[in-house]
Amino acid sequence: MTHPTEDFRARYRAGISPRYSGPLHALWVASVGIATMIYAASQLSAVAAPEWLVLLFTLLLGNVGEYSIHKKLGHQKLGGPAKLFYQRHTGDHHSFFTENNMLWTTSRDWRVVLFPGWLILVVIAIIGLPGYFALGALVSANAGALWLTGIVGTYLLYELVHFSDHLPDGHWLHRLVPGLGTMAALHRIHHDRSRMTAVNFNLTFPLTDWLLGTLAWPDKTL
Ligand SMILES: [Zn+2]
Ligand SMILES: [Zn+2]
Repeated sequence: MTHPTEDFRARYRAGISPRYSGPLHALWVASVGIATMIYAASQLSAVAAPEWLVLLFTLLLGNVGEYSIHKKLGHQKLGGPAKLFYQRHTGDHHSFFTENNMLWTTSRDWRVVLFPGWLILVVIAIIGLPGYFALGALVSANAGALWLTGIVGTYLLYELVHFSDHLPDGHWLHRLVPGLGTMAALHRIHHDRSRMTAVNFNLTFPLTDWLLGTLAWPDKTL
């Protein structure tokens, strides 16, 4: 039986460079992210209680950010560089995975699951480092370091949760980490092409979806 996504999958896979390696892609993102977080965390000393709020703020900002970017740039056809994001997300990711075909088959499919490898550098350069230096100068070195840790941590969390969303139901990772199975169920609903522009835009935790009334739970109780 041919699944409706199989034609697209065959075309997409044919376009992946023979030199592409999924494990190297994942290793690159994890290495850059973890190294940055270790560097930032190494700058901390005697963090005062209010300074931890910076970390909380980055998590909340990340949640609103992932929602907005996913909803606006991922699912609305805009001009300019945003078009690339739309093509990669709605065009590729949502054609490769639908609610009935959510699983990748080989590590070469990670090309369409993970963000491009250069994006983490852009996020560090235009969000992480400016906040690191600005908060470092205006508030405290700890505040700047916590900002950088939080921004990169949120990025890695997004990649990890989204990666796990495309693993089989009941995968050991879903059983090991609380919440991953629930997020995978919510993401499956988002991959229904008739609902992808309306519900479940959060990937890490569904706070903004809940606040804005776009959170859809599975019909059957979890
Ligand atoms: Zn997905
Ligand atoms: Zn989407």
